Amino acid sequence: MGVAVAPDTLNELHEARWWETLPDGRLHCYLCPRHCHIGEGLTGFCFIRKNIGGRLYNLGYAQPAAIQIDPIEKKPLNHFMPGTRIFSMGTAGCNMGCFFCQNWDISKSKADQTHSVHLDPAEVVLAAIEYRCPSLAFTYNEPTIWGEYVIDISKVAHQVGLKTVMVTNGYITREALFEVYEHIDAANVDLKAFTEKFYSKITLTHLQPVLDTLKTLRHETNVWFEITNLMIPTLNDAVEETKELCGWILENLGDDVPLHFTAFHPDFKLRDKPNTPPETLHRARAVALEMGLKFVYEGNIYSDGGNTICPGCKRILVKRWWHKVSDVRINEEGRCEYCGAQIPGYFKKPILPSMDEAIRLASGVRV
Ligand code: SF4
Repeated sequence: MGVAVAPDTLNELHEARWWETLPDGRLHCYLCPRHCHIGEGLTGFCFIRKNIGGRLYNLGYAQPAAIQIDPIEKKPLNHFMPGTRIFSMGTAGCNMGCFFCQNWDISKSKADQTHSVHLDPAEVVLAAIEYRCPSLAFTYNEPTIWGEYVIDISKVAHQVGLKTVMVTNGYITREALFEVYEHIDAANVDLKAFTEKFYSKITLTHLQPVLDTLKTLRHETNVWFEITNLMIPTLNDAVEETKELCGWILENLGDDVPLHFTAFHPDFKLRDKPNTPPETLHRARAVALEMGLKFVYEGNIYSDGGNTICPGCKRILVKRWWHKVSDVRINEEGRCEYCGAQIPGYFKKPILPSMDEAIRLASGVRV
């Protein structure tokens, strides 16, 4: 990987969407369920949406603070172009306050506290082409808070034939959701726990809006999505909670939404909990499969729980070891090569344009 991230002075302000002026002169941002009321010269909770002169600006626009080429399995997405590389980027700030954040160096930083580089939407997409990535991920911090940039990058990405992915906490209002996800092909949504107590005390947010996002994505959009549940010892790893979480998924989303149980490591403000033992993930996966979920994975550990198993013939369709894919037995129509069972997701082989063609296509997009 080789896209350099360095300080830059080209920091043009980009006016935000999803705000209105309140009678007292403050600005109401309704991009996420925090509904911040922001006074002159101040930012919202996420640090990157700022009231300057009575208008709201997105300080994260065109200012990525982290860029990397990742395997798509790291997002994690196991049913979306498995085995491919994904151009991944994030900015400063976040709309949640998770004590266990594993990217806290950028998510808890203000826009001027990170080393960012100016990259306009077309430059992002051309960098992805340069590194032969068929998709882009908006990730590392919460991409909802830089939704304006997400939309503009995605417009260019689609014009040149790349797919777009949100790796998100799902904390977004219904109004903004449709405008952002209209431009998104796939998502991984964190369902960080299944209790309001965890959400309110450990993430400083609420559970219900995340559940609402999951239902909306499933029933009112065409976005492919998978769910991640990071299991933290003693905080959200009780078997009863896992059963409730799986029961809600089955009842509200169906049995074919992939669910990833992933291992926690101590970080940021949550250093008094141990790493998640592999046995916890094995047990959670067994519970979920027993209850009827068809695609259940273990992540952040070395285990056979990363393989995709055909629900029809029970053979291994995608063989994984951590994020490494060594075999894929699903055809481009999403069918098991052994028994023909339909596997949900997107499995077409990516076709990337040449750089010259990408430049030509990208130049025709208005953002
Ligand atoms: S996106 Fe940021 S400013 Fe807007 S409501 Fe959420 S936390 Fe507040």
